This record gives sequence, structure tokens and C-alpha cells, in this order.
Amino acid sequence: MNKAGLYIRLSKEDDIKVMVSESIKNQKSLLLQYTKENNIFVYDIYIDDGYSGTNFERPSFKRLIKDIEDKKINMVITKDMSRLGRDYIKTGELIEKYFPEHNIRYISVTDNLDTYLDNSNNDIAPFKAIMNDFYAKDISKKIRSSLKAKMKEGKFVGAKAPFGYSKDKKNKNHLVINKEQANVIKKIFNLALNGLNYYQIADALTNLKIRTPSSYYDNINTIHYNTWNAKTINEILHNQVYVGDLVQNKRNKINYKIKKVVKNKEDEFIVVKNTHEAIIERSVFESTLKMLPKNVSRLDKKEEHLLDSLMYCHECSSRISVTPRRKKDDRCYTICNYFRTYRKEKLCTSHSNNYDDLELIIVSLLKTKFLKQVNKDKIRNNILNDLKDDDYNLEIKKLEQEIKRINENLDNIYLDKLNQVITLEQYERLVLKMKEELRNNQDKINYYLKLNKENNRDNKLQVIDKYIDDFLNFKVFERILITNLIEKIEISENKEINIILTFK
Ligand SMILES: [Zn+2]
Repeated sequence: MNKAGLYIRLSKEDDIKVMVSESIKNQKSLLLQYTKENNIFVYDIYIDDGYSGTNFERPSFKRLIKDIEDKKINMVITKDMSRLGRDYIKTGELIEKYFPEHNIRYISVTDNLDTYLDNSNNDIAPFKAIMNDFYAKDISKKIRSSLKAKMKEGKFVGAKAPFGYSKDKKNKNHLVINKEQANVIKKIFNLALNGLNYYQIADALTNLKIRTPSSYYDNINTIHYNTWNAKTINEILHNQVYVGDLVQNKRNKINYKIKKVVKNKEDEFIVVKNTHEAIIERSVFESTLKMLPKNVSRLDKKEEHLLDSLMYCHECSSRISVTPRRKKDDRCYTICNYFRTYRKEKLCTSHSNNYDDLELIIVSLLKTKFLKQVNKDKIRNNILNDLKDDDYNLEIKKLEQEIKRINENLDNIYLDKLNQVITLEQYERLVLKMKEELRNNQDKINYYLKLNKENNRDNKLQVIDKYIDDFLNFKVFERILITNLIEKIEISENKEINIILTFK
């Protein structure tokens, strides 16, 4: 008996004319009519909407292959060969090798191709596949040039709007401000203007529990996506999109078959100014840029110091920085930036102190000052309160309800089968599907239960207590802590140090 899988694909790249004739609805009705006329049983319909034919990474296509492997179907029908794919090597391999090996009869309705019949049309199959490949090449070229034209008109052509913006619902080539995200962008520029470096800004946002850009874009469990990194901050602070300009054509696909993307040279960028509403004023953006380190690739290599960006010169009020170590055991020293820049002119003096000693003194000073005020129980309770919300009971409850619903449905379709509302075959398929859903949900519940176990109160208390102890013993002394405790450190020519604290 023939059990057919009807495969339907519509690609975003198909142009309007093609779109209408190839629409999902049209393909479906054509295939259903064909199967009806030829008395073919339809096992399932597999639809990939919005997937290019040049690669085979399509969810429904994969499902089709799986059903072939599981011997659920023995026949594949498409409207024409190009629906199967537009890469002649792979499409040819499917039709000439894979299908025969799996005893699959393949029918391409409008190409008049049926691998079961000894049909002279089959000889054309490889040529047809090559034609489709050329078509894809041509289309991809056309798309690229029309994309470039759009970029030059200042139209946004990216797949997703940059963080801080959304695509305009009335015009997908126009960006509008996403208020929630725009506030984060403003905060990042503000922190940078206040002298925080990429790492400090990332730490600050993480501690404030601000959602990361990836948590918006990826549908994966967001609990893993709550840590900001310096690279993201760096990209945001350099992104001209936030002053209202579009900078596009930064990257290019190597060719239409490969997904690999290469970076373009800067003179290939297409820049159009004032295409959308700014989040950051141009003057603010430019003064931030001046403060940022020039050589981005050295970002990771630069040594960081606990007191970075907190030290100021008492005499000229410039920032005081730390000289780099050449070897691991080298000493490093504080130096007034104004002195360093205008060394010859002698506009200030070096303000040189052994940095490691200075850090030690300041940390131990903070320790004595701070320890006096700390109430361990109070800290612990504060932390516990913050953590209260992250157990998974709510998720578990939802999943249990879902399981209950599926079980009720199972009962219902059993009745449908008894009353012959559905066929035995349909019934069996539905049962399989639902059982798989049940399994999935149970797996999820087990996963959450495991997380809950790891997160139980006793465990939490242990971890928190250890953290507090480490903290009070100054084993952990994170930069975010010191920037919260110290407003600034003034260093004078005569080596007097004045620490301005943020607390009384
Ligand atoms: Zn100075």
C-alpha cells in the first residue's frame, strides 16, 4: 500500500510571482487533488514555510526523512522538484540514490516525474536539478543586489533589529525604539561616561539582573542567559545605530550555498545618517568613543586592577592609571595621566606609588571599616529573599496540568475511534504523538525537580554562608564591590591618600 508524505516548501527568496503560484495553499491543494485522483493514501503533510531550497536544514524536511527511516511512508510527493531542494548535487542524490535505497517512490507532479514508472521523464531529472541550482544562484545574486539598493536607501534589511530597537510594524525596513531595551542602552552609555570599563559595566548590569540581548533572541531557557559580557558592551558602545544612523553591509555571505559569513572592509560599509530615532545623542556618543580603548583586540590582554578608574590626581584632577607590568613579577606603579601625556611639558608630577601596596592598604582599610557595620544574619536574609523566586514549582505545576490535559485528550480520541470518527490509523498516529508529548513533559518535570533539589534551602544556605564568610575574609573582592564602596581615591604629590567612601 502507498503511504505518501506530501512535502511542501515556500521560500522567502521566491519572488512575488513565484510566491503566488507556489503558495503553501496552492501546493497543498494541488497535491491533495493529485492524491485523491490517484487513490493515494496521505500519511502526513510536511510544510517548511520560509525555508530556502539551497540547504536541507529544514525542520519538516528532517521530519520527512525520519518518517522514511522509520518506514512510516514509502512515497514522497512534491509539486515540482525545486520544492525538494535547489542544490542539484543533494537533490540528485536524494532522487537517484537515497529514495531508491529506501524503496521510496518519488513523484514530482508538474515535472511529470514518477520514479516507480519506467518513465522517460526520469532521464531529465538530473538536468532539472541542475536547472534548479542555477535558478538559486541567480536568485541569490538578485537578492544581494536588491538588498544593497535597499541599504543605500537607508532601509534596514537585517533579520532582527539591533538591541534597543524593534522593527516598525508598519514598515519592516524601519527601526523604532524599543523602550525597555533603549533604557538599558542609555544606562550602558551612562556607565561608560562615568569611567567604568567594559568589564565593570557588564558586571553592573549582571548584578542589576538586567536582561541580556541574547535572552530576547534565543528561545532557549533564559536562566542561562543572564550574564553580560564585555564583548557585548564593547559592541554596543561602538554601534552607530544608537545615534540614528544605519551602518550596513558589514558582512557578506561567501556564496549562496554556504552559510559562512565574512566581514567586509570598512570602505564597503553602507552608511546612511538619521534613518531612525536616536537613543543616544551624537555628542554623547562621540565623547564616549573618545574614552574607550582604541585597540579592541587588546581588550582581553590588558591587566585589570581592582582600583582602576577610581584613582584621581589631587593636583590636576586627572585620572590616575597603573603602569603595565612587562614580566609577571614586575612591580607596577600609579601614574597621573596628565603627567604621562605631557611628560615633556611637566604639567603635573608622576604621582608614583607602588600599586600593589596601595591596593593592599586600601582593601585592609575597607575591611576594618566595613566589617564593623556588617551583620551577617542581615546579609544572609537579604540574599535569601532575593533568591526566593527561582524555584521551579510554578513550571512544574504548569507541566502537570499539561499532562492532565493530554491524558484527557487521549480518552477523547479513544472514544472518537470507538465511534469511528477517526480511523484506526489516525488513532494510532495521534496516540504516538501524544505519548511523545507526555514523555517530553515528564522529562522536563524531572529536570526541574533536579534543579529544585540542587537549589533547596539547606543547600542554598550553605552556599550563601560560605560566600559571606569568604567575602568577610576578603577572599572574594570583586570590582563591583569596590566600585560600590568607594566613590574615589585622591592621590597627592606628597603620597597622601584620600579615600572618599560611598557609605557613612
Ligand atoms: Zn596630576
